[in-house]
Amino acid sequence: MTEELFWRDSYCREFDATVKSVRDGRFILLDKTAFYPEGGGQPNDTGKLTCGGQEYAVVGVLKESGGIVHEVDREGLQEGAAVSCSLDWSRRHRLMRMHTATHVLCSIIGRENGALITGNQLGIGKTRVDLSLESLNKELAQKFIDEANQELAKNLPVEIKLIPRAEAEKLTHLAKAEYEGNELRVVSVSGVGEEPCGGTHVANTSEIGKIELVGVENKGKGRKRIYFTLAGA
Ligand SMILES: [Zn+2]
Repeated sequence: MTEELFWRDSYCREFDATVKSVRDGRFILLDKTAFYPEGGGQPNDTGKLTCGGQEYAVVGVLKESGGIVHEVDREGLQEGAAVSCSLDWSRRHRLMRMHTATHVLCSIIGRENGALITGNQLGIGKTRVDLSLESLNKELAQKFIDEANQELAKNLPVEIKLIPRAEAEKLTHLAKAEYEGNELRVVSVSGVGEEPCGGTHVANTSEIGKIELVGVENKGKGRKRIYFTLAGA
């Protein structure tokens, strides 16, 4: 298995690792990684692996049964090689801002009218959140966004908690589990809410700035979608 450095530290962006195996020349299994794999609504990281002065661009990251596999742009890496690894940090940090903003927005929507979040997909350009709501128009979506911005502006600390499974199973509000071994990973935005999540997050909402409504979509009965993005850059 690959040690997942992002599980405890969302800010790990450079690390050294060892190539455990190579498949088809370009699919590299590492002993440890800070590259987040595609899944759970968060896109994979990109970046590069460096070995013997040669750079290999990481173009895809997948979690497989044997560990985390990094797809690189060309062949040449060998099993047993020591590699220096670095993430494309501007992309990753933007996804962290999007992810924490999504949690804040969803907490507010859930608190206001009990809507369930049925899915979300983070993006670099925009992020979408799917809700079990009977009706949603632009005005209501804008109200949610405005309220989220009020919370984000409070510079709230964001904490990653690793709770032992036996303890977590007694907490009814943590129904959806994201366990690794015997731990439940919970992301807590101070004063707003906490939820199980395996993704990467900023340490404080001050890193996010404001969010902006991009649009709403009616996906059918009881299925509504909000798109938002980060204000400014
Ligand atoms: Zn999440």
